[in-house]
Parts: sequence; C-alpha cells; structure tokens
Amino acid sequence: MSADSRAGRLKQLAREAIEGCRERLLAVSDDLQRHPETGFREHHAAATVAGWFTELGLPFESGLSVTGVKARMTGRSAGPAVAVLGELDALVLPGHPLADPVTGAAHACGHHAQVASMLGAAVGLAAVREHLDGDAVFFAVPAEESVQLEWRRELVRSGELRHLVGKADLIARGAFDDVDMAMLCHTAGQGAPPLSVGDSHNGSVVKKVRFTGRASHAGSSPWHGVNALKAATLAISAIDAQRDTFRDEDAVRVNAVVVHGGDAPTAVPDRAELEIVVRARSLEALRGACAAVDRAVRAGALALGAVVTTESTLNYLPHHQDPALVELARANGAALLGPSAVAAGRHRGASTDMGDLGEVMPVLHPFASGATGDAHSVDYQVTDHASAALDPAVLMAWCVIDLLNDGAGTARSVLAARGARRTTAQYAALRAEFDALTCYDGARGEERGPEGEL
Ligand SMILES: [Zn+2]
Ligand SMILES: [Zn+2]
Repeated sequence: MSADSRAGRLKQLAREAIEGCRERLLAVSDDLQRHPETGFREHHAAATVAGWFTELGLPFESGLSVTGVKARMTGRSAGPAVAVLGELDALVLPGHPLADPVTGAAHACGHHAQVASMLGAAVGLAAVREHLDGDAVFFAVPAEESVQLEWRRELVRSGELRHLVGKADLIARGAFDDVDMAMLCHTAGQGAPPLSVGDSHNGSVVKKVRFTGRASHAGSSPWHGVNALKAATLAISAIDAQRDTFRDEDAVRVNAVVVHGGDAPTAVPDRAELEIVVRARSLEALRGACAAVDRAVRAGALALGAVVTTESTLNYLPHHQDPALVELARANGAALLGPSAVAAGRHRGASTDMGDLGEVMPVLHPFASGATGDAHSVDYQVTDHASAALDPAVLMAWCVIDLLNDGAGTARSVLAARGARRTTAQYAALRAEFDALTCYDGARGEERGPEGEL
C-alpha cells in the first residue's frame, strides 16, 4: 500500500471513530457553552476534559497553570510530539443570553467548541495510534482571553501565576517543553467561510498609566494644584496626533480609556488613570507604537508638571502560523469540506496567546464556522456544533495523521524548515523587553524611580 493510501485509510478510521462519538461530542460543546467560566477558573471544563482522558485511558496531568489538563498518546515509536489544543475559558459579558447569572461569564468566543474538537481529535487518533511514529498531546489550556486582569495581577504578585494569560504562563513553566508543534481550531463569527487557514493576529501590550498631580481648591486656589486629569487628556491627544504615522501594513491599534479622572469637580484632580492597549502586527511595529505612546504619556506629564507612572505588560506576541502547517490544513480542509469551503486567511486586529506559542514552535490556528453574531458580542453563539466542533476534530486528526504517519517525515520536515526552537529563556527575554515599570517626573523633566511621587 502506498504512503498516500495508507494515510487515507487511517484518516477514514479516525473519521469513523469521531462520527461514532458524534452525539457525545456535540453535547460537550453545548454543555460547556452553558457552563461558561473565565480564565484560570475553568474547573467544570477541566473536570470534563479529565473525565474524557480517563475514559480514553490516556495518562494526563491536571492543574497546569491552575486549570490546564494535558494528556499524552504515545504512538508505535518515538518521534515528534504534536499537540492539539482546546482553550477552556469564556469572557465576561453579563448581557449574553447564556451568561452565568452569578459571574457574568459567557462563551462569546466559542472556546467551548475548541474543547470538544480537541476531545474529538483524541477519539479519532486513538483509533489509529498504533500507526503513528510520534506522540499526540491533547491539551486543554486556560485563560486565552484578557479579562479580570486586576485579579490576575494579584496572582502574579503572589507568585501563583507568572503571566496574565494561559499559554504564556504554561510556556514559562515548561508545560510545552515536551511538545514540538501545536494546533487548535477556533470558531469564527457570523458570515465566516466554513474554514479559513493562515490568518495572523496583532500582538498587544497593556499599559496602566497613573498621573499624580496635586489637589487644591478648584474655585479659590486652582493655581496651587497640578491637574492630573488634564495631563491624562493631553496624553490621549498626543497619542491621537501620531495616528497618521502608523503604517497601514502594521495594523497598529491604540485604544485608551480613562479609568479614574478625579473625585469631585470642587478639587483639582490629583490622580488620573488610563488603561491603554497597544497592538501591532510585528514585534518591530509593536516596539515603535509603544515608544510613541510612552512619549505621549510623558508629554502630558511634562506639560502639567505631573508625575506619571507606567506599568507595561506584554499581553500577547504577534501571531503568525507555520506555512507548512497552514498548507496541510488547507489540503485536509479541502478534502473534508470541498475546495470552495476553504478560504485564505487574513490579518486580524485582535490578538491571541497562540502568538506566544508561535514564537516558540510551529503553530496552526484555522478558523471554522458554526457561530452567529460577532465574536466577543452578546449576539455571539455557536449554533452549529457540528461545524464548530466536529469538522475541526476530523480536520486536526487528519493533520496529525499526515504529520506522524510513515516515519513522521512530514512533522520532521516542518521542524527542519523552522530551524532552532526558541528556548524558554529566549521567550522570557523577548517578553521582558516589553514588561516595564517606569516613572517620569514632568516638573523636572526627568525619569525617576518607579516609587517616586510628587
Ligand atoms: Zn476571544
Ligand atoms: Zn478566542
């Protein structure tokens, strides 16, 4: 039997195994959608995954970065390890019809379907594992979304977390050290093609900016005050003044909100706080946009003579997929759904922590259909669990079969083309470039220690 027809036979077996579990897999996607949990708190979803791994007889670890669950399926011989991921977490969206009435959590990004597709891939690959020359790793990962950041910052300060989002934390802990490449299939919003392959995402940096001025009577002695709110609004204007300088191809986004602007108009505000998210398509563009924002923030402080403290945290690295894995997904998607069902990906202004993983190893991140509404909106819901969970399960199982069958030659060539893997230490150094706590004294026009206040 030729290698191609052998792979074809294995794919057929995997698909039949997944179809045999169809109703249960659809039920998992539906159940998790009705039990939304936010990042690092996905205990119901993690228990569901652990139950499936137990049933499949796969050894697994749980509690990775609080709620992550990771199983390993060894093949007939040692070889590359390919991970199939499912993100566990929901957003906070209390107005969503399926929101948790107590926590306000809601699955408005379709991650529940990813968990079902990861489990489905495990079911499919279990049927052919004796033919694989390498390992398949099934990994339910926590906290892809950036929500409840203040609580997460507390966990970082207390040492329970190293980073604010799941994959970054898992990488830093070495939870991907025994994985060579990774894939997941995300559900897209309404109107999406059945499958899109090769999309990229912006990286993002979050800046918490606090202006400290001096309070005084706003009516009788405003000249004794230093108005922190005006420093903050000047900073926003200075950011806006730079928008023309951002190149279209860099897809820069800078979004700022005032989270504190003073306590009462009778006193000159002595404290104002901004939260700013800076996004861009490449590391270089992200560096440039962050520098522009940092200058703008200092300009506000300089003009008013206020002190500004900026806490910068790299949230996600820019996300780019491995071209060979994208081609594999395109070919398998065309075989599964028909060539016209597969669209070429585009660049998206949003961000994902698959970007972080993609800096460390080759990653694949196709988008499937099956949802109504726009992602992250109250209208977003997976209504077609077969398209959102079942087809992606087959797609990913087929990609893993192509990668690991017949001596795992395809997986080895993906790794060879990629070159040396970025180490955990190199990843940490890249992150550290963006993570900073700085303080600028506008009255003196100079930097000072981060603890410095007027
Ligand atoms: Zn999302
Ligand atoms: Zn998502």
